[in-house]
Amino acid sequence: MSQRTIAEKISCTGIGLHSGAPVQLTLHPARAGTGVTFVRTDLAHPVEIPARHDAVTSTNLATTVGRGDATIGTVEHLLSALFALGIDNVRIEVDGPEIPVMDGSAGPFVYLIRTAGRFDQRSERRTLRITQPLEIRDGDRHICIEPGEGFSVDYAVDFSHPAIGRQELNGFVLNDVNYERELARARTFGFLRDVEALWRAGLAQGGNLTNTVVMDDERVLNEAGLRWSDEFVRHKVLDLVGDLALLGMPIHGHVTACRAGHALHQALVQKILATPEAWVVEGLLAPIPDTAEGLTSPIAIPA
Ligand code: ZN
Repeated sequence: MSQRTIAEKISCTGIGLHSGAPVQLTLHPARAGTGVTFVRTDLAHPVEIPARHDAVTSTNLATTVGRGDATIGTVEHLLSALFALGIDNVRIEVDGPEIPVMDGSAGPFVYLIRTAGRFDQRSERRTLRITQPLEIRDGDRHICIEPGEGFSVDYAVDFSHPAIGRQELNGFVLNDVNYERELARARTFGFLRDVEALWRAGLAQGGNLTNTVVMDDERVLNEAGLRWSDEFVRHKVLDLVGDLALLGMPIHGHVTACRAGHALHQALVQKILATPEAWVVEGLLAPIPDTAEGLTSPIAIPA
């Protein structure tokens, strides 16, 4: 399997979930071996932040990555789409502290990547293969990963809310077709009482019914309803894909999760990293830089 980038640069505009301010997002092709890199272009000196576990600064509400004082929030839905569509190398420029929330799903990012097109590069892809099971339990929440071919997921959520209840997505096999059909359009969700508390705290200023499924104590408040009756568990799997993307390479393994979320997903990432005897990296250990023309970016990427 060769590494992949996007065929040409592409932009979109949206609002930041927390700031409510407009943000422009531009995806640029990137050389093989450079991975996924965020760049804050609104700062006096553009700061590059790798989309990697060691750059995560917060998993409160959404996943934030940072370097020094520069941070970029709400990265998980874009990372989820890139991972699912097999994009190894891309430079993500953003002129604000958040990735735009779009409609609260990964659907618009899939559309963006599809429109740009994908470009196979002349370097072998590295993949992480789980060889021993790893598990984390936290009360009635748990997540585990065990050996498997490709990346697959069993996920369950259980909310004592009439619109959600217990929902399971079992045997989901990650590939671009399944992702686009089954997960990409599943939206973020929240409860009105929590949303109101966030607004009072000056957070989620951009959050509204066009980008979040909001529920009061009884029902879903969005007029058009849900995209699937089990949209909630589908969104959890979308988030899981985006959080595990921070390992920096495709994964062979099967994840089972129950009542998990960003914090437990990140705890699994940390446990994988802390247990090198439980996995192997397949493919070249030292990626060869791609020499294809047209894959230069305006700011030099350090080797
Ligand atoms: Zn999410």
